[in-house]
Amino acid sequence: MIIILEPGATAEQRDALAADLKARGYGVHLSEGVERTIVGVIGTPERDKNELKEQFESLPFVERVVPILKPYKLVGKQFKPEGTVIQVRDVRIGGGNLCIMAGPCTVESPEMLFETADRVKAAGAHVLRGGAFKPSTSPYSFHGMGEAALKLLAEARDRTGLPIITEVMDTRDVELVGKYTDIYQIGTRNMTNFSLLREVGTARKPVMLKRGWASTIEEWLQAAEYIASQGNYEIILCERGIRTFETYTRNTFDINAIPSIKELSHLPIFADPSHATGKRSLVKAVSLGAVASGADGLILETHPNPEKAVKDGPQSLSFDQFDDLIRAVAPIAAAVGKSL
Ligand code: PEP
Ligand code: MN
Repeated sequence: MIIILEPGATAEQRDALAADLKARGYGVHLSEGVERTIVGVIGTPERDKNELKEQFESLPFVERVVPILKPYKLVGKQFKPEGTVIQVRDVRIGGGNLCIMAGPCTVESPEMLFETADRVKAAGAHVLRGGAFKPSTSPYSFHGMGEAALKLLAEARDRTGLPIITEVMDTRDVELVGKYTDIYQIGTRNMTNFSLLREVGTARKPVMLKRGWASTIEEWLQAAEYIASQGNYEIILCERGIRTFETYTRNTFDINAIPSIKELSHLPIFADPSHATGKRSLVKAVSLGAVASGADGLILETHPNPEKAVKDGPQSLSFDQFDDLIRAVAPIAAAVGKSL
């Protein structure tokens, strides 16, 4: 359940309530909105709910108590109705900002990464992406440059000022990746890796959680709840396409997911048209659709020479194509009230 405090509730009243709830053995999560504080209470037994509701609603600084029936609670809309805004260095994610993340699928060399960082920044990107630890369906494919790539990403950030995002695949790497990255990426194949979700939940850095390629929206939100349950509320959801019977595209971009997440959750929602389509010729159109439907951002693969890319070349944009995409997105962003 959640306890919504009166706008005038003091910090002492809030802390006393939290201490009382903890002493009863419940998990306590605070959401400090502009107007009011919401206290998320986890672990209340079903049979006590009515009694607890009555008890807490009788407190003068409590506005109301709302039972949450959904299997996800902390990432649900009611916990933070105004929406989550995440600050990463100078970049604001969510809250009326359209955020563009761009870069190679995988870091291949200093030259290609630095050139990419300069070019995507000049085009208007806000965050640099790049894989260091790469998941791969085949055990024989390239699996990334590991820490050497993390170091290059950090160097690219120093040169350009762009914050960086990179994937972490293993609980054992969370600390190492966290030494370099600004945002952790959890890939589609790991959306239900619950130990990894818990581990990044204890980290104090934002996490982008990509949708599992065969997961429902509710399962995805429950995966996000794993991260939030550990106290990390800075979660960005990313629709990257799901597996359907269609084979023309690599995946099927579920545009429904964008407004659905807006309806169900306070978390920012991004789109990844690169992995959703697998085809560079489709990336621009799907990007425009995602922004028009309310996405808070895009994550896009770009490469100095897509034909020669080590990974995901067919869906990677050249820099000219990336420039063109950003130009096309700008009026759509303005039309839906987002600043680019
Ligand atoms: C990626 O971003 O390069 C990636 C592997 O994405 P996904 O987990 O969505 O396949
Ligand atoms: Mn990729």
